[in-house]
Order: sequence, then C-alpha cells, then structure tokens
Amino acid sequence: MAMTKSEPVAVICGGVGAARLLRGFVGRIDAEHLTAIANVGDDMVLHGLNISPDLDTIVYTLADAVSAERGWGLEGETWQAMEMIGAYGAVSGEPLDWFSLGDRDLGTHLFRTGALAQGSTLDQVTAQIAAKWELPLSILPVTNDPIRTMVTLAEGDEAGTEISFQEYFVGRQHSVAVSSVRFDGAASAQAGPGVLEAIDAATTIVVAPSNPAVSIDPVLAVPGVRERLEARRGDVVGVSPIIGGKALKGPADRLLVELGRESSATAVAEWYRDVVGTLVIDTVDADQAPAIEALGVRAVVTDTIMSSPAITSALAETILAERV
Ligand code: GDP
Ligand code: CA
Repeated sequence: MAMTKSEPVAVICGGVGAARLLRGFVGRIDAEHLTAIANVGDDMVLHGLNISPDLDTIVYTLADAVSAERGWGLEGETWQAMEMIGAYGAVSGEPLDWFSLGDRDLGTHLFRTGALAQGSTLDQVTAQIAAKWELPLSILPVTNDPIRTMVTLAEGDEAGTEISFQEYFVGRQHSVAVSSVRFDGAASAQAGPGVLEAIDAATTIVVAPSNPAVSIDPVLAVPGVRERLEARRGDVVGVSPIIGGKALKGPADRLLVELGRESSATAVAEWYRDVVGTLVIDTVDADQAPAIEALGVRAVVTDTIMSSPAITSALAETILAERV
C-alpha cells in the first residue's frame, strides 16, 4: 500500500454514500493527497442559518461522530432548540420544525453562519470545521457560490411546480414524483479554490456512490468539473449507488425511473458514460457487466455495500487498483 499513499485522489461526493466510501481512503491516501469535492446543491438557509447537509455528513462521518441510525447529524444529540422553535408554531403558515437540527449540530450551523456573515468563504469555514475534527483529508465545497437543486413535481395539482431539494427530500420525504431537476446558480458558479486543481492533480478521480441525479450532477454542473472529467475519463472510477435495482437509501432508484431511465447499475453506467471510464458494480449485478461494457464503460464487479470497515476498505483498494 505504501506505493499508493502519495498518489493524489479526488472524490466527487454527495452525502452518505460518499462519506462511507471516503472512510476507505482515509489512511490509505495521505491527508494532503486526498480531496473530497462536495455537493452544495442541498444547502439552504433555515431560521437564518446556513446549512450544508452534505458537507456536514462527510465531516461527521469521518469524525466518527455521525448518528449510526440516522446516517446524518451527530450521535447522542439532544433536541431542545427544536422543541423550543416548534413551540412557536409557524411563520407564514410554514411549521418551524419540519427540518430537524440537533442542539450540537446547531452549533456547527451557528459557527458557519457567523463566519460567512463576517466575510469568510464557505471553503474557509469548511476547512476550519474539518480542522476542529482533525480530519485527515481536504473537504472542498465544489463552489463558494450558492447552487440550489430544484425539482419539478410531476403529478396532480402540483404538476409543474418547482420546489427546493430539501422541501422535496425532507418536507415531502421524497415520496412525490419528479419530472425534472435543475441546479439553480450552477451555470454562473465558479469552482471553489483548489477544486479544479485537485481534479487535475489526481491520478484517480472517484465518483462516489451517491445519488446521480441530485448529488453528483450538481457537482458536475459547476463549470469546469464535467469538462475535466470528460477529458480524463480513463482515470475516473465510479461506484454504482444502485444495487440489485435499488438504492440503499433515498430516492436514487425512483428518480432514475421518473427521469426516464431504469433503476439498474447499467442505467448508472449510461448516466455517467461521458465522465466515467470504469464503473464498480456490486456482485449481485455481475450479469450486467457485459451490457455496461457495451456502453464503453469498463465494469468491475465486487462487494459494494459498505456495511463493515473491511468491505469499505476492500472497495477503496479495488478502486485504487484501477489506476493505469
Ligand atoms: P445523501 O446526499 O445523504 O442523500 O446521500 P448520497 O447521495 O451520497 O447517497 C444516497 C445514495 O448512496 C443512495 O443511492 C445509496 O444507494 C447510496 N449508498 C449509500 N451507502 C452505500 C453503500 O454502502 N454502497 C453503495 N454502493 N451505495 C451506497
Ligand atoms: Ca445530499
């Protein structure tokens, strides 16, 4: 493993799936050579606070502080602030407690909001948060500019209505059908400091097993990112978030179908074929390898459900072994 330690790796990240995979790279790649490039399309302002769910999921997971049962937020949280704000009822008809924020987690949001208000950039705040938790990698928001993932509802009275990602994901518990997804602000966003440089420097670029439509695509939508991956496609290794036709959590499987694809590892290969030269798929999907290779994407079959440190570690090793 010594030979891989100082080879730079950049990981394109959503939240939970990406955070889990990053655990496999930590310790295998030196801190100064491991860069997570994270989605900010889920970010929002709530109660006046700047909240960055995917950045925080990555930080809390790598800090071993994430709630195991929720997969987001901190272990051992208390919810007193939530109860207090809930007790105030609603503002403009909107309940105040629809999005859960634990008491200690609120400390992170207060810190981020205060620092941004005083002129820090999101990447600077994120670096300070990562330093507090002593994380052995760089975590870079893909951009310091606001990007907002917006989904258009497909059915009923609400067909054609556009809502924010968090209203969809948390507010509606992703149980409503979607007809399209848009990344507001992405076209005019500038890649954050170090983002394009980390991609250029990486000998392997990894597309984490995150939701292709709402976690990875907003990262690719920031000018320069998709273009670089396309140009380096042979060095890009993706991991399918779809296993046996299903997402392990969240709406990735349904979104693929609603957006006109099928829910399969092959559909993921099709989604990413311009940016990913190799796709790691799960052992249960081994029979799809020929269809994926027919798309011009190399298929690597292994266990991809990161249910133990040993499996996560082996998956990271397999990805690194793909470097040419
Ligand atoms: P979010 O931003 O927190 O919703 O998280 P992501 O977009 O990173 O992740 C949701 C996706 O990650 C789902 O489609 C899951 O199937 C996938 N995922 C989560 N854990 C794993 C895992 O252990 N292995 C694989 N292959 N995919 C995973
Ligand atoms: Ca997310």
